[in-house]
Amino acid sequence: MPTTILWFRRDLRLSDHPALAAALGRGGAVLPVYIHAPEEEEPWAPGAASRAWLHFSLKALDEALSARGSRLVLRRGPSLEALLELVAESEADAVFWIRRYEPRIIARDTMIKAALRRRGIRAESFSGSLLVEPWTLSTGEGKPYRVFTPFWRAARERLTPESPLPAPSALPAPPRFPQSLSLPELGLLPKPRWDEPFWRLWQPGEPGAQARLREFIEDVLPQYKSSRDRPDQKGTSRLSPHLAFGEISPRQILAAVRASDLGSSVSAAKFLSELGWREFSHHLLYHFPHCAEANLNPRFDAFPWAEPDPASLQRWQQGSTGVPIVDAGMRELWQTGWMHNRVRMLVASFLTKNLRIHWLHGARWFWDTLLDADLANNTQGWQWTAGTGADAAPYIRIFNPVLQAQRFDPEGAYIRRFLPELAGLPKERIHAPWEGMLPRDYPPPMVDLATSRQEALAAFSTIKGRFKDEG
Ligand SMILES: Cc1cc2nc3c(=O)[nH]c(=O)nc-3n(C[C@H](O)[C@H](O)[C@H](O)COP(=O)(O)OP(=O)(O)OC[C@H]3O[C@@H](n4cnc5c(N)ncnc54)[C@H](O)[C@@H]3O)c2cc1C
Repeated sequence: MPTTILWFRRDLRLSDHPALAAALGRGGAVLPVYIHAPEEEEPWAPGAASRAWLHFSLKALDEALSARGSRLVLRRGPSLEALLELVAESEADAVFWIRRYEPRIIARDTMIKAALRRRGIRAESFSGSLLVEPWTLSTGEGKPYRVFTPFWRAARERLTPESPLPAPSALPAPPRFPQSLSLPELGLLPKPRWDEPFWRLWQPGEPGAQARLREFIEDVLPQYKSSRDRPDQKGTSRLSPHLAFGEISPRQILAAVRASDLGSSVSAAKFLSELGWREFSHHLLYHFPHCAEANLNPRFDAFPWAEPDPASLQRWQQGSTGVPIVDAGMRELWQTGWMHNRVRMLVASFLTKNLRIHWLHGARWFWDTLLDADLANNTQGWQWTAGTGADAAPYIRIFNPVLQAQRFDPEGAYIRRFLPELAGLPKERIHAPWEGMLPRDYPPPMVDLATSRQEALAAFSTIKGRFKDEG
């Protein structure tokens, strides 16, 4: 009987898992494996918050496998060596996995596929994390898309009505399971355990992802179009960490939304277009692999960023800039491992424009602290907000954090939740407390918003000539 190694990576689920379905389709045993090899992902090895999530996601996956007569074997990298050892120990003749799209991972997986095949082992990868794989779409001129709207228009036409695959009821076990490391041996949890408060808000793993999707469709989707920009409301799905770890597939989300009563509503279209941004981000990272570290738009390479000043960066990181919506966002991130999308844009704009600090400093902090850290989405989010990206808002469009907060957190409820030192201020003062007497324990803004805006525009004017040919 053939044994297939099922190599789990960022697809920590059992339903809608094409590699698992294919392994079962061979008729033999399935050996589920996770290999911890952070060094192979450098310089974007999982950050501290992601590692904590990963711990609980692997636990949930092992439980789901155990309930089906199987278990998850844990090993350490290098991945190729670990796979070859497992092949030898289990007499497996095939290794199946779901594809990832980060440049270093593609290079590693290509090498592994070739090495396995050279040894006569069947090595197959499957699509399971995206709706549309990056190389399947191109513009009329055969080039990658750089603008979201035409990308999503083209992508939508490709979305097949295929039903997601159900989870199998059992996984045939190999005659003997190879030895496994214990989960604590992977050392994924932080010391001390600052992550504990997170788990009152989040349930890592496939059951948690499915529950969140159901709640979202019932409670939030009806008003998503208007609520999605409101950090003071539970107005979005909060599926992002589940998607980042592949505990749910975008195809499952698409199918569930389409099958709901609201499937053809404006809110559903808006929500699905956010999934479209996820697809677009992966398209960009795949076709422009340098963009995780460098400006997608090389005209920005001459931009005069301010010298990175550790004290300023730290004030931003700790949420003590003196600008309430920025500080509330940074503390939401620290306390919950997540930040609302609108506020992500505001804190990123403040860092890259008002402080003129290079977007990579922000991207790295997000990388370490976000539970949903995802290289494609994070890179695209930072480059878009900094104005250095492809489908970029021009640099000159600088968010005014006071006006934005007044619009999207009108009562100041979000600010009060994360900045208790401002909780006593009335809504008329909470967005710009420096305009009256400041509470004793809250600082004045670290930069004047109007002056720093002018300075940012002046800095941009030094490279403006390079953009002239863009019209
Ligand atoms: C500076 C910056 C950094 C970001 N870093 C990340 C990151 O590391 N990981 C991450 O998943 N998202 C990132 N985003 C995108 C976005 O903020 C989050 O995906 C979103 O806030 C997640 O919340 P949600 O699941 O409730 O979103 P919903 O509004 O419910 O959207 C559903 C899903 O669509 C995808 N999505 C939504 N908005 C975007 C977007 N703008 N770009 C790409 N995909 C999107 C996400 O997978 C999300 O879970 C970043 C945005 C910015 C501005």
